[in-house]
Amino acid sequence: MIPGPTNVPARIINAMQKPMISHRSAEYHELHRSITEGARYAFQTKGDIFALTCSGTGGVECAVSNVISPGDRVIIPVNGVFSQRFEENIERFGGVPVEVPIEWGKAATPDQIKEAVKQEKNVKAIAVVYNETSTGATMRGLDEVGRIAEERGLLFMVDAISILCGDYLPVDSWKVDICIAGSQKCLACPPGVALISVSGKAWEAIGKDRRGSYYFDLLKARESHAKDETPFTPSIPVFYALDEALKMLREEGLENRIKRHKVCAEAFYNALQEMELQVLPDKQFRSNTVIAINIPRGIEDKAWRDLMREKYGVMVAGGMGKLKGSIIRIGSMGVVSRVEVTATIKALGKSLTDLGQKVNLKAGLAAVEKVFTSSS
Ligand code: PLP
Repeated sequence: MIPGPTNVPARIINAMQKPMISHRSAEYHELHRSITEGARYAFQTKGDIFALTCSGTGGVECAVSNVISPGDRVIIPVNGVFSQRFEENIERFGGVPVEVPIEWGKAATPDQIKEAVKQEKNVKAIAVVYNETSTGATMRGLDEVGRIAEERGLLFMVDAISILCGDYLPVDSWKVDICIAGSQKCLACPPGVALISVSGKAWEAIGKDRRGSYYFDLLKARESHAKDETPFTPSIPVFYALDEALKMLREEGLENRIKRHKVCAEAFYNALQEMELQVLPDKQFRSNTVIAINIPRGIEDKAWRDLMREKYGVMVAGGMGKLKGSIIRIGSMGVVSRVEVTATIKALGKSLTDLGQKVNLKAGLAAVEKVFTSSS
């Protein structure tokens, strides 16, 4: 139950057990087309979409290196480790981040973005991390930010790595120009592929006066894509897995997948409230996919997580950056249901009891049951 890589269904693991094929063969072309169509469904876009052989960070780097030139100013709310990394990525390619500082555990509001846009005359893009995995805070009102970006002619870049398919993000109707997702999160696929969507407006900014990354050159990707290929050798096994994961998404239905994540998150939050465990983000920012809990006074981070893993078989993640040692994070993404939520709540409650804390596990489990009973 960490925020990626998530558990992978056997069907997806088995999909990788095929002989290697040439990435210039007709079989590959079919796989490529199938992934593209599946990814368009996941992103809700009719625009271009590419599967890149890299982890999520490579997808962010691809976005930045293709559209950001030295001196370009980019508005970016920073509220945790992954938005800091996005900012560093922008700097690495000569861009100038215009930071909107946000307290960790909160997320920027559209009004804060609007204000930053008003203050800054010469801006090229707005970049946001939709779901700050390091704090469990989700930014709400992305559709409004998309409208602001459109009105001002700014590019709208969204890191949706830990949330795509776990919450709403209709890329075209929310006017997202570049969206990045990772294979190893809500798609329940192994790590190794990042997906990136590119709007018509983004293409206008790509390749102009810029020599960005060679490996992540989207113009090269587009040229190869016209032949149903990638410019370089893709990770064929993970592509097979991703294709299967996207088929499973279609079978479940995007709406149902999002609802499943929402219901599981609600069950977690209600149980935690009953158990008097404090969630880091306030209600309006709480994520559907990452549940961040403040570590109770007197409990040591590593000892708690080790106990949960070794005695109760549930692995959760620790905090990152300045929150290391003060929160734990549950990844409620991909393969999640009543079973996983119940097992995790049990592990939390029992381990805390072992460590001498008073916890009302019974009330926590009842809250879980109530959510799943009323949602089914
Ligand atoms: N951005 C966000 C929001 C993430 O959650 C992650 C990983 O958890 C990344 C970027 C980086 O992805 P990766 O570790 O796959 O490179």
